[in-house]
Amino acid sequence: MTKKISIAIDGPAGAGKSTVAKIVADRLSYTYIDTGAMYRAFTYKAIKENINMSSEEELVRMLKETTIELKNGGGKQLVLLDGEDVTKEIRQPDITNSVSEVAAHPFVREEMVARQKALGAEGGVVMDGRDIGTNVLPHSELKIFLSASADIRATRRHKENIEKGYPSDLAKIKSNIMVRDKQDTERKVSPLRKAEDAIEIDTSFLSVDEVVSRIIQLAKERIEAS
Ligand code: C5P
Repeated sequence: MTKKISIAIDGPAGAGKSTVAKIVADRLSYTYIDTGAMYRAFTYKAIKENINMSSEEELVRMLKETTIELKNGGGKQLVLLDGEDVTKEIRQPDITNSVSEVAAHPFVREEMVARQKALGAEGGVVMDGRDIGTNVLPHSELKIFLSASADIRATRRHKENIEKGYPSDLAKIKSNIMVRDKQDTERKVSPLRKAEDAIEIDTSFLSVDEVVSRIIQLAKERIEAS
């Protein structure tokens, strides 16, 4: 039997992580784990429950009583928050604007990272986020860091929103991406950073297919070597 490896895909917002990670997971029959969706689902609950986003204590207390499940099925991924489907809600702008503040709290991360490590413990996962290669799955066999210019990333998000029928404003998206990049790279605990042993792929001028093929080829090499 061939070994199931784990694949970490990190990078800033809009670099193409989730699009690519989903296809790679599908091709390898691995499980796709979107760690950003976990932070988003939790942020959704914090907003709904009127929790003060700067109160780490309140947030952590609530997180300990919160279940977040990622379900894959029928080519779709569902995000369940305490059993309720919040897949669409967590993509709304108010969540996107607050999620990096919530994700910057060290004890919120500690709890999330513990859950993510447990999800990845058996291998056979493609996990995307900001700190997967550096912190969540530091021993993963394949680490990818996806990058692209802020302009290109904003334009992609804008197109995605329009396709999904969400309201969209390119200038606002770009400023949100830049604010999140700054918050995510400058936070004290597990900031967005390329792991030393990660392979960087600049996706600015590559198609989704080209990025996927490159990762699949690397994954096959790692699977054979493991
Ligand atoms: O990937 P996505 O853009 O949905 O992530 C939303 C936010 O969640 C990020 O901007 C970041 O603040 C946070 N995040 C994180 N660590 C991860 C995944 C996401 O801090 N592993």
